[in-house]
Amino acid sequence: MTNLKLTDSIIRAGANERVFARAQELFRNNAISDAAIQGNILTGYCEGMQSPFYKVRDELDRGGVRAASCDCEYDFGGYCKHIVALLLTFARDPERFVVRDDMTKRLAELGREQLLALLTELLDEVPDLSDWLETAIPEPAARQSRLRADGANRRVAEIPVENQGAVQPAASADGQVERAMSGCRIPAKKKLRRLAEEATQLAQKL
Ligand SMILES: [Zn+2]
Repeated sequence: MTNLKLTDSIIRAGANERVFARAQELFRNNAISDAAIQGNILTGYCEGMQSPFYKVRDELDRGGVRAASCDCEYDFGGYCKHIVALLLTFARDPERFVVRDDMTKRLAELGREQLLALLTELLDEVPDLSDWLETAIPEPAARQSRLRADGANRRVAEIPVENQGAVQPAASADGQVERAMSGCRIPAKKKLRRLAEEATQLAQKL
């Protein structure tokens, strides 16, 4: 973190004079608590007028501040005084920041069971995540073929009874899957056997 340097001029560039002055007051009054740095991200809570604490997050880069957010309602352009107060605290008193390991590194140290328990708890807390996971995790192959078989069965059921004779061999979804698989397997076996025979003949000639 030593390569992340913040100066007053960098901080001033993101806020108006009045906000900067108020943020300096907040810094002098030790308004920031639970300050932490994780990678290049600063987090902390800032005392405020309408809520006991505002949650603040500042993302730094080598050039200064890449992004910043606060859950107060300030919406008058530039950073709010809480964001600036957190930045000033880091610029002037970095020792107040607890250094936390990068989250990717911490997750990498967990075992499979721990990760599973963590993810399950997260899904309970944030149910909307399940929609995202549905698209992020590919369907297991076995389930996919079962779904395809169901689809095939439905299509057969939609065909009028008098026409079903034409597609009778596909009437059973399970049978269809079996036939599809055996259709792949048998030629593959034959081909393998032929290759083995050819290899044996070649070996005999050598
Ligand atoms: Zn704020």
